[in-house]
Amino acid sequence: MEVPFVDLAAQYRAIKKQIDKAIEQTLSSTTFIGGEPVERFEKEFAAFSGHKYCVSCANGTDALEIALEALGIGPGDEVLVPAYTWVSTASAVSRVGARPVFVDVHPQYYTLDVQQIEPLLNKKTRAIIPVHLYGLPADMPAIMALAQKHNLLVIEDCAQAHGADIARQKTGTFGHIATYSFYPGKNLGAYGDAGAVVTSDKALADKCRLIARLGQRGKHNHLQIGRNSRLDSLQAAILSAKLPFLEEWTARRRWVARQYNLQLADLPIDRQQIPNDFKHVYHVYVIQTAERDRLQAYLAEAGIRTQIHYPKPLNRMTFFDTAGPRPVADKMAGRILSLPVYPELTKEQVAYVIDRIKHFFTYVV
Ligand SMILES: *Cc1c(COP(=O)(O)O)cnc(C)c1O
Repeated sequence: MEVPFVDLAAQYRAIKKQIDKAIEQTLSSTTFIGGEPVERFEKEFAAFSGHKYCVSCANGTDALEIALEALGIGPGDEVLVPAYTWVSTASAVSRVGARPVFVDVHPQYYTLDVQQIEPLLNKKTRAIIPVHLYGLPADMPAIMALAQKHNLLVIEDCAQAHGADIARQKTGTFGHIATYSFYPGKNLGAYGDAGAVVTSDKALADKCRLIARLGQRGKHNHLQIGRNSRLDSLQAAILSAKLPFLEEWTARRRWVARQYNLQLADLPIDRQQIPNDFKHVYHVYVIQTAERDRLQAYLAEAGIRTQIHYPKPLNRMTFFDTAGPRPVADKMAGRILSLPVYPELTKEQVAYVIDRIKHFFTYVV
């Protein structure tokens, strides 16, 4: 049996009518930049995210840079980021001229370890970017308490956490501003690059829009130096067509994860622990094992595709001058493995993955 790591073709087949209609309408209207599709998606996504304002942009990395710039973060500033995340979280900080400072991650939750924050603070620390890694919310109540105590700005990187929540409060609504990616493989994905910034602070949303739209407010009225980072209308129409399915897709991801949680419980692997009331949306389902490389090769041989998120922690990327050891992130990088966890997985595929992993730990290692 073949089990791909993601199956975007299966997803397209399931919603082909809605997608084709959205694309056809956009092509017929020849509104390729801005216009109704973009305005509509921004409204819909603001509502989904639990915020008043959504400023769409070209991708999730731009969203981080735009949010940082809008908050006035730049040269001379330090921003705390988790040591273990996708590179954009830290490179965006460097791109606006500030320094990313790496906070080790929690050994059970894999998100930013709140205990590690205070020793890293100094007069230059301006902000913190928690990442809801793999779809599990970071400990936002604790992070916000520290942020308030030390007067830090909080940017939530929600690129992997569309729809996650803590006690029914959506991730992305705890901090001052949140950023999203709609990269095709994300829980809500476009058919190309796409991203957004969301906030309920009108002045901040206006700043983001100015930055992302060449400093322009109304045609040919340029108020500042900006950049060009737009969500195109085709992608907006596709995202609007997909958004109504997101909740159902998340429920299916959670079903797959539940099978893994139950069936792999007795094996010598570590799984991401979930605090009470935290709702995981399983952008990625990870396990940790000392036998990672052998397990990955064994599963590949059986037709099961897995990935490693991520082989190198950011604190080991020496082009960041703040690079250095972080024990938990360093250890994770050699042990982590991502299993297939998408809505289109069949019962048979999930059972097969579980069976092969059990077989590996019973007979192979
Ligand atoms: C995907 C991702 C991004 C960047 O999004 P792009 O749309 O690929 O630029 C940022 N942060 C995290 C945690 C991500 O997973």
